[in-house]
Amino acid sequence: MSIDRRSFIKLLGASAGIGLAGVPMISVANEIMPKKGRRVVVIGGGYGGTIAAKYIRMSDPSIEVVLVEQNKDFVSCPFSNLVIAGLRDLKENTISYEKLTANHGIKLVHAEVTSIDVGAKKVVTSAGTISYDRAVLSPGISFRFDEIEGYDEKTTPEVIPHAWKAGPQTLLLRDQLRAMKDGGVVAMTVPQSPFRCPPGPYERISMIAHYLKHNKPNSKIVVWDANEKIASKEGLFKKGWAKHYGYDAKDASKGLIAYHSNSKIVKVDAKGKEIDNGVEALKADVINIIPPQKAGHIAFHAGVVGEDKKWCPVDQITFESKLAPGVHVIGDSCMAGPMPKSGYAANSQAKVCALNVVQLLNDKAPIDPSHVNVCYSYITDKEAVSVSAVYKVAEGKTISVPNSGGVSPDLSELEAVYAKGWIKNILTEMSS
Ligand SMILES: Cc1cc2nc3c(=O)[nH]c(=O)nc-3n(C[C@H](O)[C@H](O)[C@H](O)COP(=O)(O)OP(=O)(O)OC[C@H]3O[C@@H](n4cnc5c(N)ncnc54)[C@H](O)[C@@H]3O)c2cc1C
Repeated sequence: MSIDRRSFIKLLGASAGIGLAGVPMISVANEIMPKKGRRVVVIGGGYGGTIAAKYIRMSDPSIEVVLVEQNKDFVSCPFSNLVIAGLRDLKENTISYEKLTANHGIKLVHAEVTSIDVGAKKVVTSAGTISYDRAVLSPGISFRFDEIEGYDEKTTPEVIPHAWKAGPQTLLLRDQLRAMKDGGVVAMTVPQSPFRCPPGPYERISMIAHYLKHNKPNSKIVVWDANEKIASKEGLFKKGWAKHYGYDAKDASKGLIAYHSNSKIVKVDAKGKEIDNGVEALKADVINIIPPQKAGHIAFHAGVVGEDKKWCPVDQITFESKLAPGVHVIGDSCMAGPMPKSGYAANSQAKVCALNVVQLLNDKAPIDPSHVNVCYSYITDKEAVSVSAVYKVAEGKTISVPNSGGVSPDLSELEAVYAKGWIKNILTEMSS
């Protein structure tokens, strides 16, 4: 039996009454789906969660899978930098859950998960509780806004988009660039590593420069990067910026891109459109602050965040939390050694986790994983670059397999073709 959104809301309406704003009111103590057999509850229907839900059902259809996701559709961050540059429609980045849930008998609940009662093995949602035998958490990231003075979590992103979760924020940044005068200044800040998508900020710089070159050639993008260097594909990015956007590492006044490393934003004045790095202030027409990051909020409420108060320590073979037995954490929120916080990595972790959740539920030994990751970045509308790696677990730690990966030899049109194939395949895999 599967429960679609309409019948789920009907069920809530019948049993609980509808609140003033049309929001179902139901006690959190209310078990909304009484459990009959073995059940896994997957939290978060993004890059990790959709794949974990699907592969558990594919590996053992006798296990019931409930996927809890707060949004109706999923909007992909990969390829959202192209939307900002006006090279892609956000609709192409948007997938629904209908086919995935129907094809694999996954029960979908649209609700926000507010906590996990690890002792009682219950996921607490805004719609009631759901019991589980094992839970898989893939909630992505949340932001450490409090590290930037003057940043108001509610109002600042309305004026200064982060666009680091795709959706309305992506469109706001795109529209601000479109509305800017030729000759304007775009300021962008990159947080200290680790953050979601290591090459993502540098692809965004390239895409904004591409937009400026073709639409507002007298303008400039000024970048403050909190890091000492670009962690991923530095040589290729800088080569591409020099080739296409007149970038000069020695003279920031030249070209469309002025890039500064070791420059960390400490303060923002959203009204005055000004940022400050403790040494100087910079006024800009459009500002894009990518805030420092941590695990998704629910990871904190579930008690699975480690001593660093940022990310979730997990067993590297099963992705079971080191702090909450029976709860597995995958994707951006988890610590997986050198694996980047990428959609590709979340997909790979989800498959390994799904397989080992099934092994554990069938009283079998977990299987040693092997992971792969490839991250493509666009430099122009036609040329892209990539970085790839293979990972394995040795003595309980995830390590890169020596000589297994590397970066693409140069900027290339073929890499852009591969990138397009990748996004099509991965979004299809998540949505069917
Ligand atoms: C600009 C940009 C470009 C990128 N480009 C690439 C790329 O080219 N290649 C690549 O591999 N990666 C890329 N990434 C990284 C990629 O987006 C993430 O690594 C990936 O989304 C992580 O997957 P996840 O499952 O951890 O989180 P997500 O995919 O964000 O999924 C989390 C889901 O959980 C839901 N959720 C969260 N909390 C709750 C809750 N309490 N209750 C219910 N639901 C909840 C959210 O609504 C969301 O649907 C990019 C990121 C950015 C920002």
